[in-house]
Amino acid sequence: MNFGRFIQCFGMVALLAGPIACTTVPETGRSQLNLISPSMERGMGRDAFTNLKASTSLSSDQNATAVLQRVGSRIAAVADLPKAQWEFVLFDNSQANAFCLPGGKVGVYAGILQITQTEAGLATVLAHEVAHAVAHHGAERISRVLVVQGIGLLAISQFTKMDATSKNALIVAYGLGTTLGTELPHSRLQESEADRIGLIYMARAGYDPAEAVKFWERFAEYNRAQGGSRTPWFLRTHPLDEQRIEDLKRLLPEAQLQYRPRGKEDPPTTRPTAPTLPKQISKTVTLIVPQTGARKVIPWKSGITIYTARRKAGIRPAGPPQLTRAGKLRPAKPATTLKAGDVVHWK
Ligand SMILES: [Zn+2]
Repeated sequence: MNFGRFIQCFGMVALLAGPIACTTVPETGRSQLNLISPSMERGMGRDAFTNLKASTSLSSDQNATAVLQRVGSRIAAVADLPKAQWEFVLFDNSQANAFCLPGGKVGVYAGILQITQTEAGLATVLAHEVAHAVAHHGAERISRVLVVQGIGLLAISQFTKMDATSKNALIVAYGLGTTLGTELPHSRLQESEADRIGLIYMARAGYDPAEAVKFWERFAEYNRAQGGSRTPWFLRTHPLDEQRIEDLKRLLPEAQLQYRPRGKEDPPTTRPTAPTLPKQISKTVTLIVPQTGARKVIPWKSGITIYTARRKAGIRPAGPPQLTRAGKLRPAKPATTLKAGDVVHWK
């Protein structure tokens, strides 16, 4: 935790005279004020989603629903949200819209599919929404409302016993008490953070993160065609401008490092038997050349370290090494011992 951030977070919590309650956002490492427990977050998201599904028409388009499930499950598989109860639902609504409720409930309006167009386009939207959930942006928003309203930690932990005013403050913060599509906007910082994490997640799930830029460009075009007064809700709460697209382009190299293209078909559920695929073939490590971004694959050997692998691959030293193992980015040092399948890159 950065000391400055610690003080900032501590200062807000001190207002409540309660224990320090900060969490760290995965991937970005930002420290955030968070007074809401993950289980309470999941409960609120689940209840609200149940209500939405009961009061809003679901899409009858089985193909589009199947695509949503497929892309959604691939994004969810790489999302760092313990005990998440992921659910992806296609609503029958012509608006270009999508949202995520805390704990992993993602809603997509059918109208957005004309702009997502491809699975990678849809992955852009889903990864962005999933990132909001992983980063606990809803809980962060609600925590700020609680601090402003001076609602105590004890009251938060006893949501069911809260008085109506306090409960309402929580509900408004989540945007749960209103009809779908009127959720409060995320802050600019949360939007940028969801864009960054979303790019990384779509790359890890096997979608080319460069497609995110194309999606947002299509969305900008759609926005222009719609005209200002009829700007869809999704655009009002997800401010779209040249800056966002520029930011995404700047973040692309970070995400590209984690991009492993994947075929449309899911991998076979049974692994090839040993005789058809000798073990040696899969025992490699991959190093990303810092200067060019090229991939160098070298054989893995027991005890091989990042340092010896770099020497063997003929890669010149660069910044601190980073390691992607089993789809997750991990801290590393030159002396870190590698496992087969590891991917090494340098900051
Ligand atoms: Zn967003």
